[in-house]
Amino acid sequence: MVIAVASGKGGTGKTTIATSFALSLALDRDIQLVDCDVEEPNAHLFLDPLVIEKTSKGFIPVPQIDQSKCNYCGKCSKVCAYNAIAVVGPKDGRKGSILVFEQLCHGCGACSFLCPRGAIKEVNREIGAVESGWSGPIQFIHGRLNIGEAMAPPLIRQVKENIDPSKTVIIDAPPGTSCPVVTSVEKSDFCILVTEPTPFGLNDLILAVEVLRKLKIPFGVVLNRSDLGNEDTEKYCVQENISILMRVPFDEKVAKSYSKGIPIVRALPEFKNHFKQLYEKIDNILTGKDR
Ligand code: SF4
Ligand code: SF4
Repeated sequence: MVIAVASGKGGTGKTTIATSFALSLALDRDIQLVDCDVEEPNAHLFLDPLVIEKTSKGFIPVPQIDQSKCNYCGKCSKVCAYNAIAVVGPKDGRKGSILVFEQLCHGCGACSFLCPRGAIKEVNREIGAVESGWSGPIQFIHGRLNIGEAMAPPLIRQVKENIDPSKTVIIDAPPGTSCPVVTSVEKSDFCILVTEPTPFGLNDLILAVEVLRKLKIPFGVVLNRSDLGNEDTEKYCVQENISILMRVPFDEKVAKSYSKGIPIVRALPEFKNHFKQLYEKIDNILTGKDR
């Protein structure tokens, strides 16, 4: 089963929920923890000890133009939704020219597919790295996007190529609701949305719910710092028929441990049972037992 852990906004405690969930389930089953927050991976900070065994380069395929074959028809430029190719046709006896803006290219392959003269080949541009290893029984994989790179989705896809569906896979998705989040959560069996009961938390939860409904991924909510803020988030979940799977009250011990990179279940071991129950609730929802 592949379970993504996401949140409409940063700072809700998504990674601490994902890592504590993985640590709790690892007692009974084979776990892969996949950190897809490639712009700011931090799940590894909560896994101690962690041994990285393999590092591979992360790439995006970008077009390379063979100008000897190109007739400057402009089809590649027209098809590129990201304005990553500019074509200037020949004029007044001057040769045409074509420019590729590699930083804007999303590696979709449309230009090389549609070029009528076979003038475009794809070459790999390095954008980061994929690292994998073990923390005790947990198999761990994450990506690191190079500083200054904007193209997280191709690296996230490379990270996800390592998913082993025979295991229970927990994906730590990036915060927000943009392309990197969609790339991280798509094809998951279930998504946990971590939020907090504040106006900002609710606003971003509503956006995340819209995304998951469009992607047709079943989901439920974990309410972090559930005893702070107001009741609007709970009311929203009731109105929208969204299951609140778990409530984690504010605890100073958890907050202090978090700041030192210590997961909830190591600060409060009794929480392991709550995380196991969280898994059972998800399993019941997916198998229809919860209806
Ligand atoms: S589609 Fe091919 S032939 Fe046309 S401008 Fe682009 S590279 Fe050149
Ligand atoms: S691969 Fe896609 S994004 Fe990149 S230049 Fe070609 S059409 Fe544009």
